[in-house]
Amino acid sequence: MSCKIDYQPASNLLENRVVLVTGAGDGIGRAAALTYARHGATVILLGRTIAKLERVYDEIEAEGGPQPAIFPLNFEGATLKDFHDMAETLDKEFGRLDGLLHNAGLLGRITPFEQYNPALWEQVMQVNINGPIWMTQALLPLLQQSADASVVFTSSSVGRKGRAYWGAYSVSKFATEGFVEVLADELENQSTVRVNTLNPGATRTQMRRTAYPGEDPLTLRTPEEIMPTYLWLMGPDSTGVSGQKFDAQPPRG
Ligand code: NDP
Repeated sequence: MSCKIDYQPASNLLENRVVLVTGAGDGIGRAAALTYARHGATVILLGRTIAKLERVYDEIEAEGGPQPAIFPLNFEGATLKDFHDMAETLDKEFGRLDGLLHNAGLLGRITPFEQYNPALWEQVMQVNINGPIWMTQALLPLLQQSADASVVFTSSSVGRKGRAYWGAYSVSKFATEGFVEVLADELENQSTVRVNTLNPGATRTQMRRTAYPGEDPLTLRTPEEIMPTYLWLMGPDSTGVSGQKFDAQPPRG
């Protein structure tokens, strides 16, 4: 596993690239959308809370970044038709997709498995893995239209080693790691699309606060501080790298 926290990106790293970020309204996704736009990308902001997406849109515009697009979508209840309609809309608007950051995620509950609610388990699997994989299937033709497309799935340390009480969240992240191995192996030698997993590590967001209510958030890196690896994976410096696991920050000592 490797980490690119010291990566120094070119200021125009993502110029002329169209990059879709899921969960772009808050936390790490918001920081990724703003960072990608600052490095020249046209960013498609996808999420379920339109007001948050609009705020990110306005920030990008205010900074003079390339005009973004908003795509409202709630992974809960999203159907195959929704994903195919999305692909059609993006095809008409952009004709290709150069980057896809699967970042949206749901924590569910941290609770003993014996008490895990099956409906909540399904919900977490839908948002964290099932929705993203069918969205990827629908968007693959558009990704194939890019000369150098990068797909990044967000993992977690509990997607690489199981931990008591992390239930569906941990299982969904293991599934993410497994899916990326399968897809990367399929795409090898027959496509320029690369696909990797990225574990942000402990980061100062609402999800982290919910998971660790007693922790001092000031001891954690901010989403902005972990962006170098997000940039490296999305830009041309990672061309040809596929099926790998990355960390956005070194493990906490
Ligand atoms: P946040 O809870 O701050 O943000 C999650 C984002 O996902 C929000 O924009 C949220 O939208 C969106 N989202 C949640 N459910 C849905 C849904 N049903 N449909 C569409 N969008 C949805 O989390 P983080 O920024 O911390 O997490 C981002 C990613 O990083 C996640 O995949 C998480 O598992 C992973 N991660 C985070 C770590 C951390 O320490 N923060 C550590 C390891 C992994 P809305 O704003 O509308 O709620």
